[in-house]
Amino acid sequence: MSTVGFIGLGQMGAPMALNILQKGHKVKVYDISKEAVTRLAAKGAEETSSPAEAALNSDFVITMLPNGQLVSDVVFGDDGILKTLSNNALYIDMSTINPFESDAIRQKVEKAGREMMECPVGRTSADAITGTLLLLAGGKPYQIEKAHDILMCMGNEMIDAGGPGMGIRLKIVNNFMSIALNGLSAEAAVLCESMGLSLDVAIKMMSGTPAIKSHFLTTWQSKVLKGDISPAFMIDLAHKDLGIALDIANKLHVPMSMGAACRELYSEASAFGFGRKDWTSILEHLRKMHQGYGLNK
Ligand code: NAD
Repeated sequence: MSTVGFIGLGQMGAPMALNILQKGHKVKVYDISKEAVTRLAAKGAEETSSPAEAALNSDFVITMLPNGQLVSDVVFGDDGILKTLSNNALYIDMSTINPFESDAIRQKVEKAGREMMECPVGRTSADAITGTLLLLAGGKPYQIEKAHDILMCMGNEMIDAGGPGMGIRLKIVNNFMSIALNGLSAEAAVLCESMGLSLDVAIKMMSGTPAIKSHFLTTWQSKVLKGDISPAFMIDLAHKDLGIALDIANKLHVPMSMGAACRELYSEASAFGFGRKDWTSILEHLRKMHQGYGLNK
């Protein structure tokens, strides 16, 4: 049995702390909401009145807070975790925060001779309740090993993201992709509806194409990720098809800001010489843009 200090008992933190408790560990809880602390205490957690008190004599200290500034305050404040965190305890931030802020917090914790890793989570508060979160561990191998049993109280799948800071980077990339795709999906759905096409039929059909199966798992695997950008489907043809969709959207007054931005990207790739290359070479174009097409050297 371990002792775990848990700070931040909101939508996510409360059920996560409860799952650790129910797996037989001692859990010391803190939140600025007294009510949240009392609710957990009623279920068997030990009530504390500051992050420092929650961290005192704990083997692990976990934060699950809304943003990086709050995490920093809770760690380094007057009554912060660092005041009492022992040098053989492990501090784990599970919040979704800016990776650069997370790096700065970890470096400061390490400078004080203490241990920190991050483990943001995928999925939703429903999974926090059922203990089925996706755990994105960013830490040194011995830290991940040490934290494994405690983390697995809250989730059913853990990914070692590849070192300190990589868990939070993975989380941000995942959220970027799924949040942006949510917007693009809405544009496609309204385009369907505006043309009188059944969305159900479209979803069924697109389930078998990269539209839903994703480029990462389909087209990219056999082409650009293998270094092959010979055309299976050309950038210029993709540009033409995007243009048709945008013409329809224009006529039917369908707002399509993401689609319009994408067409510009394909125009740009074509202008930079990728027009007759495979559409997956959009990756190569963006990589080259990021490197300044060699002009920055
Ligand atoms: P929430 O707002 O429900 O909970 C945050 C908790 O932190 C609250 O109980 C609040 O009182 C407490 N808090 C705020 N400042 C504090 C301080 N200084 N000291 C102690 N406690 C303090 O938020 P949430 O949905 O639980 O999200 C927490 C984190 O989890 C966020 O970083 C969020 O992005 C991430 N996340 C959320 C979900 C989700 O589905 N809700 C999924 C994955 C990740």
